[in-house]
Amino acid sequence: MKVRQRIEVSGIVQGVGFRPFVYRLAHGCRLAGMVVNTAAGVTIEIQGPSEQVLRFQELLPLEAPPLSRITKIQAQPLPLQSETEFRILHSEKTEAAHTLISPEIATCDDCLRELFDPADRRYKYPFINCTNCGPRFTIVRNIPYDRALTSMDAFSMCPKCQSEYEHPLDRRFHAQPNACWVCGPQLQLWDRHGRTLDCEDPVQAAAERLQAGAIVAVKGLGGFHLAANAANERAAQVLRERKRRVGKPFAMMARDLDAIRRVCHVSADEDKVLISPQHPILLIEARSGNDIASQVAPGNRYFGVFLPYTPAHHLLFAEGPFDYLIMTSGNLSEEPIAIDNHEAVERLGTLADYLLVHNRDILCRCDDSVVRWSKGKLRQLRRSRGFVPVPVFLEQPLTSVLAVGGELKNTICLTREDQAFLSQHIGELENLEAYKFFQEAVSHLQQILEIKPSAIAHDLHPDYLSTKWALEQKDLPQVRVQHHHAHIVSCMAENRIHGPVIGIALDGTGYGTDGAIWGGEVLVCDTVSFQRAAHLSYVPMPGGAAAIREPWRMALGYLWLEFGAEALHLGLPFMREIDKRRAQFVLRMLETKVQSPLTSSCGRLFDAVAAIANVRSTVTYEAQAAIELEACLNRDASVQPYTIELTDCGDHFEIGYSDLMHQLLRDALDALPPGIISRKFHDGLADVFVRTAIAIRERFHLDRVCLSGGTFQNAWLAARMENLLRDQQFLVFTHAKVPCGDGGLSLGQAVVAAATLETTRRT
Ligand code: ZN
Ligand code: ZN
Ligand code: FE
Repeated sequence: MKVRQRIEVSGIVQGVGFRPFVYRLAHGCRLAGMVVNTAAGVTIEIQGPSEQVLRFQELLPLEAPPLSRITKIQAQPLPLQSETEFRILHSEKTEAAHTLISPEIATCDDCLRELFDPADRRYKYPFINCTNCGPRFTIVRNIPYDRALTSMDAFSMCPKCQSEYEHPLDRRFHAQPNACWVCGPQLQLWDRHGRTLDCEDPVQAAAERLQAGAIVAVKGLGGFHLAANAANERAAQVLRERKRRVGKPFAMMARDLDAIRRVCHVSADEDKVLISPQHPILLIEARSGNDIASQVAPGNRYFGVFLPYTPAHHLLFAEGPFDYLIMTSGNLSEEPIAIDNHEAVERLGTLADYLLVHNRDILCRCDDSVVRWSKGKLRQLRRSRGFVPVPVFLEQPLTSVLAVGGELKNTICLTREDQAFLSQHIGELENLEAYKFFQEAVSHLQQILEIKPSAIAHDLHPDYLSTKWALEQKDLPQVRVQHHHAHIVSCMAENRIHGPVIGIALDGTGYGTDGAIWGGEVLVCDTVSFQRAAHLSYVPMPGGAAAIREPWRMALGYLWLEFGAEALHLGLPFMREIDKRRAQFVLRMLETKVQSPLTSSCGRLFDAVAAIANVRSTVTYEAQAAIELEACLNRDASVQPYTIELTDCGDHFEIGYSDLMHQLLRDALDALPPGIISRKFHDGLADVFVRTAIAIRERFHLDRVCLSGGTFQNAWLAARMENLLRDQQFLVFTHAKVPCGDGGLSLGQAVVAAATLETTRRT
């Protein structure tokens, strides 16, 4: 019996070779009909013998192309038509736009083969791509994803490219950025003033200059990188000085996997991450005695490494003798990444010696993603290129909400039904450039997703630029969300659970409901409300923000709580380098409580311990002291963890520092190695939070624990706490798809706001 079916497929099904796949499958099943891209996804109609139609429907999800992601298939019967062949129809633009745009994909193996094949017409063409690879999100102006609505509309295809583009069985069928030497974008090498250098091969010329130690700004998919030879100590040093980046590690692109294996300990799982279609920056443990310049990642246990992901990257390594290039975002410290050629000359002209530019416009900034592999999962530290705009799939549909995130590592989030779209990494909202990028991201994301939010969620902190922006949007209702509540709900959302749970939120800074700076919080919460069930005791931060830059101030703060004015005369090693008058001044601040806001921050506790252990007493980038304290941790020693006291204060528990300070003092005076002190502290901290969770379980009868907040980027602490909690029969949920730090905050804000609106609507 002959039947006809309409099949609607939603998910990431455009720009990933889905229609050619459907075409081949329909041919294979000898079916007539058609397939078309719609704003909602892909619509298929098939007609033929019922058993063949059934087979088609079975195979559709099983054999879908690797880059596609099907979220829903709906089928309905239709009356038969007099059709004998299967056709691919042109896209239509409809009202309800629910298509998912694919993220950027690293150059595929087929394209790589052609790139280095002298007989191929795209031999060494720096913009080779196909349906399985190349730019997407960063060139999209609007949906549906069609060439006319991308920045490729500036180039009209030559007859050869056009015929590939139109042929359903070609690898470049409807590959929107399809291009070649004849018709597509081209590279140029510029000097720092934006003058074009006369050279036969700009890539070769750039590679020669890199080898000689120059810094070259390289235009990529989501913005410019600043590139320098990573084996050249002088080049690395110059880059640091010009970029005004003192200690923060640089990412490093390596020629191939072998090159990475020579400088890092790479596990089989990490191998897979490095060569995955996203090619993210992966943090991997460095081997000692490698040839990498010490200025690449000073004081760090890990290298951030990745593989070439555009044809131009591959060509650079093919031309250059170097195996490693520093590839850091093209910006001045803490500013957003540059994307436009002339913007680059203006902003990067003082940082780079040359610029390797191209004439395909980047419509949306997108930094590299940074990930780590730990406890069997890929963990996002900075979720950007390759992952954005793939949504996080929620447990249930929500009202559409725009959440504007926090202040540091800002991202925004838009929700639509059961999908939450986190933006690319926007960064530190502390300067005008970043604030502009934030506004760009808000409008671009709304544009390409066609979402009109019905409310805005923002942080409690009145001074965050994101909060201020939200408060200016008078036409939409606003929902205030506490920072650590947002962290925990972010973790709940990505794990598709709702409350109540015990949430352990550990980070550096978050505005509390009492106006204090929170950061060592144990909440009992669901998606609507929370109760602060336990927290680290308050400690003064002498000098406020200055205490974040100078961990020795924090060390004095904690020691002063326990020893009073004696804190200055304990004979601790870190005090020797501190100017006596400055120390006196800080002590007076503590005693008079002037400019000393109270905090329960876990980050500040790490800072203080790092100072007392004589690891670091001033920092040049966020969390540096904590990172170095973890980096020196002795993993092999068998030690007795520090005991940290937990006090029942009636309606909540408090974690105090008295015992901890005495033990630290004794060990520091005994000149115990920092690695041992670090280990005793890490393990002691994990212990006390596990004891806290047990106490809360007894009181609230909850056994699910969510771990969130930037402190969980600390791999040792995260793994130890997870293991100990599991040993105690807790169900533990952690972050993987979304960063545990403030990059994941907007997701939690969005879910809290949507749930809050839903609750008020019902009551
Ligand atoms: Zn390809
Ligand atoms: Zn062409
Ligand atoms: Fe935070």
